[in-house]
Amino acid sequence: MKILLVEDDVMIGESLEEGLRAEDYRVTWVRDGQAAALALARDHYDVILLDLGLPKRSGLDVLREYRRAEGAAQVLILSARDRIADRVQGLDEGADDYLPKPFDFEELCARIRALTRRRGGRNDGLLSHQGVLLDPRSRKVTLAGEPLELTMSQFEMLRALMENPGAVVSRARLEQRLYGIDDQAESNTIDVFIHQLRRKLGSQFIRNVRGFGYSLSADTPT
Ligand code: CA
Repeated sequence: MKILLVEDDVMIGESLEEGLRAEDYRVTWVRDGQAAALALARDHYDVILLDLGLPKRSGLDVLREYRRAEGAAQVLILSARDRIADRVQGLDEGADDYLPKPFDFEELCARIRALTRRRGGRNDGLLSHQGVLLDPRSRKVTLAGEPLELTMSQFEMLRALMENPGAVVSRARLEQRLYGIDDQAESNTIDVFIHQLRRKLGSQFIRNVRGFGYSLSADTPT
């Protein structure tokens, strides 16, 4: 699950980034409102942890623009501005929850879990990597917002890789995923599908781990 952490306080940012990574979240940390808006325009996140008092652009400003653009991530405001009027405004602008600073890390984790549950099941199931968004329910894939046409086999291969970001998926597992879709699937068929996917997604998107299988390329830092 991908979290965008928007926090200008270095001490808080560092400890949250470290703590959330230890909980197995994929965290991108940005330190001002402009960087936050840029990150949100470029990539998909499941949860946004948003400070309000930020350099360059305020958190509320970023939130307003994000919701206007129909950004669908769960937004949890983390702010020392804990007056009731501020909370109300934050929620009215499209935040899903509000946690006043200082807060307990355990409580933050519990709120993140609650938000992603509320979203239905294991978050909304959307998978994203480097501008590619895969929706297992609708079986739609987009690249930088543009729809991609994939065959069923290509889709299943991509899904297997995107469900395991950072891991190498073995050929045997990829063959298993194709079982029942493409009964002729053999190891050279896997190579053919990977080749087709690379042509659609860019040659750098999928990495070959010789003798074992494939993985997504490493996330580029934003
Ligand atoms: Ca701040």
